[in-house]
Amino acid sequence: MRTLKILPVALTLVLGAIPLPAAGQQQTTLAQVVDKIVAQEQAEVQSLRQYSPIVETYIQILRPTKAGGAVPNGDKYFLGRAELAKGVELEPLIRGTRTKHNLFGGLGSIFSMEFLPRGFLQMIYLDTNGFDRQHYNFKYVGREFLGDIRCLVFDVDPSSKPDKGRFVGRIWVEDQDYHIVRFNGGYSGRSQTSFYFSFDSWRTNAGKNEWLPAFIYSEEVDSQAVATFKAQTRLWSYAPDYAREEQELSKVLVETPMAVKDQSEIANDYSPIQAKRAWGRQAEDNVATKMEQLGLMAPYGDVDKVLETVVNNLEVTNNLDIQPAVRCRVLMTSTLESFTMGHTIVLSRGLVDVLPDEASLAAILAHELGHVVLGHRMGTQFAFFNRLRFEEKETFRHFGFTRTPEEEQAATQQGIELLKKSPYKDQPGNAPLFLEALKNRSKEIPNLVSPHLGSRVAAGWTTGSAELSAEKPSGNVIAALPLGGRIKVEPWNNQLQMLKSKPAGGVAKDEKMAFEVTPFFVYLTRQGNNSGKEVPSAVSVKSDPDTSIPDTKP
Ligand SMILES: [Zn+2]
Repeated sequence: MRTLKILPVALTLVLGAIPLPAAGQQQTTLAQVVDKIVAQEQAEVQSLRQYSPIVETYIQILRPTKAGGAVPNGDKYFLGRAELAKGVELEPLIRGTRTKHNLFGGLGSIFSMEFLPRGFLQMIYLDTNGFDRQHYNFKYVGREFLGDIRCLVFDVDPSSKPDKGRFVGRIWVEDQDYHIVRFNGGYSGRSQTSFYFSFDSWRTNAGKNEWLPAFIYSEEVDSQAVATFKAQTRLWSYAPDYAREEQELSKVLVETPMAVKDQSEIANDYSPIQAKRAWGRQAEDNVATKMEQLGLMAPYGDVDKVLETVVNNLEVTNNLDIQPAVRCRVLMTSTLESFTMGHTIVLSRGLVDVLPDEASLAAILAHELGHVVLGHRMGTQFAFFNRLRFEEKETFRHFGFTRTPEEEQAATQQGIELLKKSPYKDQPGNAPLFLEALKNRSKEIPNLVSPHLGSRVAAGWTTGSAELSAEKPSGNVIAALPLGGRIKVEPWNNQLQMLKSKPAGGVAKDEKMAFEVTPFFVYLTRQGNNSGKEVPSAVSVKSDPDTSIPDTKP
């Protein structure tokens, strides 16, 4: 029985072995440790001012169910660039997301639309104005491991009760340099309503003794303790292209002129058809590079290779020899979208995250490969470099890869043909269930399923998915994973890896959580001891089927 696990939980409480000496010395030692934490936190706030990460907040508004739970009933999406040098300023990258609700209508100005994204960004800081022993009481709780990181744990309360905006909750401090790596709680006196707002803020190590805010889960409950919304805030792209520029430029400089010349002598001239292909590829490369520089596309890496393995399997079994070769890239965002630009297939991280198994991934990729096979081309205007000069906030207006409904329908039909001859035809899989679930949930999560660059994932599948599989898998199946279920994001350089979490035994009905916002539980590590580097895990046609990405079927 294999099932779903959201994030690898390795919260091991270490019993006993309290690091602070007992007896008479304790007060002094506690004060000394707290002073180190306070100093490090102040340095952290200063250090963060140099960064302009991308900030994404996705909110699901919840409706209580009769069974006592809650289900998504509306959502909200923000994407922006933070200017941390200016405090919690955010430059929006996407304007005017749709919602059928008057979001947070009763909550007054704290959650006005304008303030909302900044309110979530605020949670990267514990307290920028007086986090010290004068304003707070610290109570040592014990030690815990968060992932590989051994932490000291403290309960923190404002020393003066009416002090509004002070942090109340618990902090986890790594025990080498006293960085706060996680804080969980709320701000006192923040909300003047009967709503109670809490958050869990995580920082991840970027090497060099640096911990960067990366993941924040937050939720609000009403006076009956029923959650009214859940939100995930993600930060990334702290330094997306610094490392690459350095590396590539130094490589160019060490190459000898002779070596460059040799290569050009080997190459033949281009025929017109080759020139046309090269021109198309240049346009694809230009868009991909630009998106990567903006921090919206992940650098080519392990996850792309997994996707390309699946595409390769589809091509090989259908005797396709597509030139130039089909490539895959991943958009960094949580929205569910996929599109092709020429021979480059792009899936969003959010989409890969919620796909329950490899067969579902194959269905999505087969549809996109359908666009490629049918010759649905991108405009090649981006092969001109002046077309790539525009302001960042214009990005989503500048790039657009939507297709007509006719093209979508044709690509789905083509994709189904490709799947029928592929190794995935024998895996009944969840693909139809996934598409069905996506269609059924779309009303409640309009902003999650609204693409910013491509077409809706479900577009074209309305009539097609029934053809995919006559036999529906029986039993307790997962139609779709919760958000963030599969890919690990490195917020420093935007590299993506498949999560290593093991399937988690039987899944109860209320644990299914398709497309839902769930808390983060990050497996913290220090950069530089990456012993657990992931390997691409999709099954290759000729390789051992046991290496396929862990699916969630029983
Ligand atoms: Zn399509």
